[in-house]
Amino acid sequence: MRVLVVGGGPAGSLAALHLAEKADVTIVEEHPSAGFPVQCAGLISDTCYSELRNYVSDRCLLNRIEGAFVLAPDGSYVELKGRSKAVVVERKIFDSELLRKAAEMDRIDVRIKTRFMNCNGKKALVRGMNGEELLQYDAIIGADGVASTVAKVFGFPRPRTLLAMQVECRFEAMDEHMVELYFGKDYSDCFFGYAVPLGDTARIGVVASENPQQYLMNLLEKHPSVSKRVKGGVIELNTGAIPVKPINFARGNVALIGDAAGMVKPYTGGGIYYHYIAAQTLGETFPDLDAYRRIYMKKMGYEYKMGERIARLYSLLTDDDYVNLVKIGKGAEELAAELHMDSPSSLLKVIPRFIRLLTNPRLSAKFGRALLMGL
Ligand SMILES: Cc1cc2nc3c(=O)[nH]c(=O)nc-3n(C[C@H](O)[C@H](O)[C@H](O)COP(=O)(O)OP(=O)(O)OC[C@H]3O[C@@H](n4cnc5c(N)ncnc54)[C@H](O)[C@@H]3O)c2cc1C
Repeated sequence: MRVLVVGGGPAGSLAALHLAEKADVTIVEEHPSAGFPVQCAGLISDTCYSELRNYVSDRCLLNRIEGAFVLAPDGSYVELKGRSKAVVVERKIFDSELLRKAAEMDRIDVRIKTRFMNCNGKKALVRGMNGEELLQYDAIIGADGVASTVAKVFGFPRPRTLLAMQVECRFEAMDEHMVELYFGKDYSDCFFGYAVPLGDTARIGVVASENPQQYLMNLLEKHPSVSKRVKGGVIELNTGAIPVKPINFARGNVALIGDAAGMVKPYTGGGIYYHYIAAQTLGETFPDLDAYRRIYMKKMGYEYKMGERIARLYSLLTDDDYVNLVKIGKGAEELAAELHMDSPSSLLKVIPRFIRLLTNPRLSAKFGRALLMGL
């Protein structure tokens, strides 16, 4: 069987690597290399990193992360150290190593600077260095990111998205092995801001439903803690869209994976681990693409459901609620030890105990409504 994978980002390379046991695979990537332009903070769990060690080397490793400081809008904070640790990777190296690994496989043909344009029956029209060409395929996998052309050509619905904006700049982190998460209405209308430390710099960003540049400026210039620790101008600026929920991503001999399918953690915007699980599932179920969709959603559906509930809570909580939560959280750090960053359902195990600590009935009602009832 011949499979055309459109997109040589992490989802496309991982899909091809898992399909190559069963099919001859061609990856078309429109850019001269993978990982360009960078739209990522590079934070992945150590579980994810150790599973990907078959494909990537420590050359992409920039930092190791022990946990997170969660900051309320007044600058007060609580330290969370969960079950999972994390690493920060350099996506330019990470993505190119994945694509190179795919190119080394006998059954995978990688074509860079080649753009998928359209389809006619089982022939795909691509435009590469030698002009236009028709590629014959039996199945096509769209791994071409959130603005997927494959999804458009085949009429798949598009996932709802949030907007992200991130800078890298000199920064004095509270601890160089802890990420910082910033909550409050001045830093996002529905999500949070973050800083991922990299020695004497950090990737500092926000995710919001609109106007991310305003929230990012607020964070860098007005936040009571962050603004005092930003030490220099911007070294790098990235913007991007983050899908919030998977769509129905398989039909006939066409399937989507990664951001094209909306496969990110709804409560953090992190995509890579969920793409890896999708690629494994695709490899296991191929050529039955409907089974790929069903089995992936069976494995991950509950995690998406819980992730959406956590994300819902961000919009319900006020600045005062966050200040209160930090105070309460300071006495309950041991509950965080049970959380895993890839698994929002791990929160469900601790949430009844946490709600008991909430003396404010309005706050406990918000937690109960969002997390337990999904309202
Ligand atoms: C600011 C920001 C920060 C983030 N931080 C994190 C994080 O810390 N951790 C994490 O896990 N995730 C993070 N994410 C999400 C993560 O970056 C994405 O989930 C991930 O990059 C998606 O991978 P992908 O392979 O699906 O798509 P992409 O990485 O977008 O790759 C798609 C590829 O397809 C190619 N392509 C597109 N159209 C065509 C075409 N027509 N023909 C040929 N090739 C084509 C593109 O050139 C590209 O190489 C972040 C996202 C943003 C925006």
